[in-house]
Amino acid sequence: MPSYDLHCHSTWSDGLLGPGEVVSRAAARGVDVLALTDHDQLGGLDEARDVAATLGVSLVPGVEVSTSFEGDTVHVVGLGVDAATPALREGLARIRSGRTRRARRIADSLAEAGIRGAYEGARRYASHDELVARTHFARYLVEAGYANDVKSVFKRYLTPGHPGYVPHDWVPLAEAVRWIHAAGGQAVLAHPGRYKVGQAGLRRLLQSFKEAGGEAIEVLSSSHTSAQATEFATLARVYGFLGSCGSDYHGPGESALDLGELPALPTGVEPVWRCW
Ligand code: AMP
Ligand code: MN
Ligand code: MN
Ligand code: MN
Repeated sequence: MPSYDLHCHSTWSDGLLGPGEVVSRAAARGVDVLALTDHDQLGGLDEARDVAATLGVSLVPGVEVSTSFEGDTVHVVGLGVDAATPALREGLARIRSGRTRRARRIADSLAEAGIRGAYEGARRYASHDELVARTHFARYLVEAGYANDVKSVFKRYLTPGHPGYVPHDWVPLAEAVRWIHAAGGQAVLAHPGRYKVGQAGLRRLLQSFKEAGGEAIEVLSSSHTSAQATEFATLARVYGFLGSCGSDYHGPGESALDLGELPALPTGVEPVWRCW
């Protein structure tokens, strides 16, 4: 059985390693099929593909799109997308310009809590002006001594009810699915166990994603406990979704799971790679 890891990040979004380094690490860890899925960004795919070709890794061009569903942020991974597709490129560019405005507002909110210079601080951790993510703010807050590590930052900052949180309108869930389909890809609901939407909200999310034409959900993710993996394996069958697996690796020291560090998909789940 080949080893699949279908969700990870490079420095083009909020990962710590460049695309080539991500692919090399995946290869060294025995990953056969790797999807690079940077947030709202396709820029790392060329380098990833070139390095993958030299190492015998099968590189799936991917993306993780930030969307809004009933006021909550929901991530949709696109797998096997053609990065040249105008609808996808233009849509992602629109999301990125919204991110820049949001980053300024996050910094304003932190300034109100007495934390100065957060935009410039976060920007130093980002490779690109247009992709300053909360992770970059978190790294700056660790540097400035507000928390010991990135994970702890999110307990006291940058999340609802805490300094540095600003609500943001991404794109509607169904629109992201349309872009992914226009680019010839499959749409995968990322880490469904992470959304704090309640039981009924989760059902509406899965139903809406299904109606939008979403093909798969992540069953295995570093965001999921093993009980959640079992729960989402069942929900995949109930809703007729294929199952995906991804470490959501962001870099050394910042991720619960390393590249390829995933168990096999639970039996009874049709893998998203079934027809590849
Ligand atoms: P953004 O897309 O700018 O809202 O940033 C979201 C990113 O922040 C996620 O992709 C994670 O990398 C990171 N993140 C969010 N919540 C947490 C958390 N509780 N612990 C660690 N990282 C988190
Ligand atoms: Mn991230
Ligand atoms: Mn995500
Ligand atoms: Mn991710």
